[in-house]
Amino acid sequence: MKPLQLDGSAGGGQMLRTALSLAMVTGQPFRMTNIRGKRQKPGLMRQHLTCVKAACEISGGTADGAEIRSTELVFRAGKVREGSYQFAIGTAGSTSLLFQTLLPALLHADGPSTLRLEGGTHNPMAPPFDFLDRVFLPAIARAGARAELSLESVGFAPAGGGAITTTIHPCGKLAPMDLTARGEPTGTRIRVITRHLPLSIAGRMLDAALESFPCKDAAVENCEPGPGAGVSCHVESEFTGIREMTSAIGEHGVSAEKVGHRAAKLMLDFIGCGAPVGRHLADQLLLPMALAGEGRILAMSPDSHVPTNIAVIEKFLPVKFHVSDGGRGTKLIEVGAA
Ligand code: ATP
Repeated sequence: MKPLQLDGSAGGGQMLRTALSLAMVTGQPFRMTNIRGKRQKPGLMRQHLTCVKAACEISGGTADGAEIRSTELVFRAGKVREGSYQFAIGTAGSTSLLFQTLLPALLHADGPSTLRLEGGTHNPMAPPFDFLDRVFLPAIARAGARAELSLESVGFAPAGGGAITTTIHPCGKLAPMDLTARGEPTGTRIRVITRHLPLSIAGRMLDAALESFPCKDAAVENCEPGPGAGVSCHVESEFTGIREMTSAIGEHGVSAEKVGHRAAKLMLDFIGCGAPVGRHLADQLLLPMALAGEGRILAMSPDSHVPTNIAVIEKFLPVKFHVSDGGRGTKLIEVGAA
């Protein structure tokens, strides 16, 4: 089969990961040029390369150009085989993003699979493990996707050394999702997870988050022992049928208070917009929606990941997305047959 031609210059690693997922699900090979073209360090980083190699392994596929910093890749999937797999990113690259790359293919395999993924679990600019477990998986469970996740050890950047395990159950065709109305609020929760830093830092972060977002279920979790130091603040709101989590990761030179306030402010913005789907969940639901063939979500002001991800999905699948204004900065994202 002739490879689909894809230009990755408009977006980041997500365009490549979505293409890998869809090549495995559909059997359609692709050639992507200008991979992560506009990023400071374009081309494949360790996290992306591990996604390519893992995709080759679970699908018996081949990849030309699978090298660090490569900006062009040709990928051909074979048949996806269920099984027990282990992949190590080798850096603090995000295990969540690796999981999301392999999930659609393994949901369509003939039997259940288990994965053990090593790398980062709480990275800036990627879903923290807790988001995958408490927001992403429950959301796609509504479409019939079933997977269990467990956190073996937390991996903060730059040390990495984290590990997650998962069991993925095949589910056939996903069902359409309709996530356009937010239910009644049913709970809130804040967790600050930390390792190898004075506990007072995590405590100050939690207090700052609580100052902006009062909540009864709030705690610091110390995840020692383990490699590397770090701290991550997660603010959660639950509504009937959907959950959202905002997060901020501790950084050198940024006060604990600022990080705590940032995570809480993101949640207040989400609550204020009235939509059921948060900014990050929005771009992560596009692929399951498209695989179902139809669906609708109302999302908080999605970012540029939405158009770039849609562009890749529409090349592989006979679907068409429609994005319209939903008021108060929200967007209604609908997908149906092309
Ligand atoms: P690059 O932009 O350097 O290529 P990348 O390969 O890590 O980076 P992106 O294309 O930016 O990937 O995709 C990052 C993904 O992580 C997106 O799906 C985005 O919604 C998600 N994400 C980022 N931050 C969060 C967060 N705090 N919570 C949940 N999801 C997040």
